[in-house]
Amino acid sequence: MRKNAMRLVFAFVFIFALFAFTVLFNAEEEQPLTFGPFEYTVDEDGNATITAYTSQEPNVDIPAEIVVDEEHKYPVTVIGEKAFQNSYAQVVTMPDSVKRIEAYAFSGSALNQITLSKNVEFIGNQAFSYTALTSIDIPDSVVTMDTTIFWHCETLEDVTIGNSVESIGDYCFEACYMLSDIALPDSLKTLGNYAFLACDGLKTITFGTGLQTIGNNCFEACASLEEVMFYPNLKSIGSEAFKSCENLYKATFDCNAPQIGENAFDGVNEIFKIYYADCASGWDSKDLSGYSLEEVQMHVFGDWQVQTAPTTDTLGIEARTCSGCGEVEQRTIDMLPSDGETQNSSAWVPYVVAGTIIVVIAAFIVIYLICARKKKLSDNASK
Ligand SMILES: [Zn+2]
Repeated sequence: MRKNAMRLVFAFVFIFALFAFTVLFNAEEEQPLTFGPFEYTVDEDGNATITAYTSQEPNVDIPAEIVVDEEHKYPVTVIGEKAFQNSYAQVVTMPDSVKRIEAYAFSGSALNQITLSKNVEFIGNQAFSYTALTSIDIPDSVVTMDTTIFWHCETLEDVTIGNSVESIGDYCFEACYMLSDIALPDSLKTLGNYAFLACDGLKTITFGTGLQTIGNNCFEACASLEEVMFYPNLKSIGSEAFKSCENLYKATFDCNAPQIGENAFDGVNEIFKIYYADCASGWDSKDLSGYSLEEVQMHVFGDWQVQTAPTTDTLGIEARTCSGCGEVEQRTIDMLPSDGETQNSSAWVPYVVAGTIIVVIAAFIVIYLICARKKKLSDNASK
């Protein structure tokens, strides 16, 4: 009986000690690690996440590596959630070690210029919302763009979207009033709902050939937009997608009739017309009463398919077929660059330069020696 009581007491003491230890240990971990003006954490793989920026210095060079000492070096791979939110960071350079930019990373900061990592794969929601960015270059490493990334970037004028992006999330560019002209890459398949809502400066948009889906209200109230052209992979346009684009007068569909959501083109310009390819299918059965339609001579070509691959000394051939009438169009593909040649030619350059310099110096020395000898001879003669 007494033994049992003792055991119970021991068990309690042990559990309490364990609990106290855990609490203390966690409390110690909550102290942020710092590296210059940055706070960071390190994960079990030894990768660092920047979690905060505490300086008022507007120019920020994010380090590629947190160096504690010779044995403790951690590559910076993540810009953590809210790390630079509402900070003074204005001109930021991000190292190529960064793979993820988490939600709200720069939201509401003084950010006006940023060079992204060439290896960033993920950009979280509101990562750059409410900043003073004027331009952004989304690198080819990015595949998915989350929702609301550039929400209310009201000074954003220039956007380049990399050639791997497959989807642009809901509200991604909502209220980017200064955006006037954007080209979407052929890799892009999905445009989210409200993605360009109220971008009223948007005058031209070029859709890539891979685009399949345009979300609901995607371009609603883009009052400057005048014409749009769609390509053969387009499957659906969401409801109210181009609602209140009051200057939109022309939509050309080089594709079979896609699904067109309710009121997709409500409140566009009064002379608005839909042009569709005469080779396309599905337009006759579509109820497009209320729209003015016009057929145009156009094939609905599928994607280019390589038929003969190019080599280093022969051209390749690729072809695409019209899904309406079966017409085939062909074009050549450039020869592959022969690595050997280009390497050789560039490898020669330093040798040629060095050789020329040596020859010139040698010539000078020879001329100098000849002159000196002549002078000596004439000096001797005059003596
Ligand atoms: Zn055709």
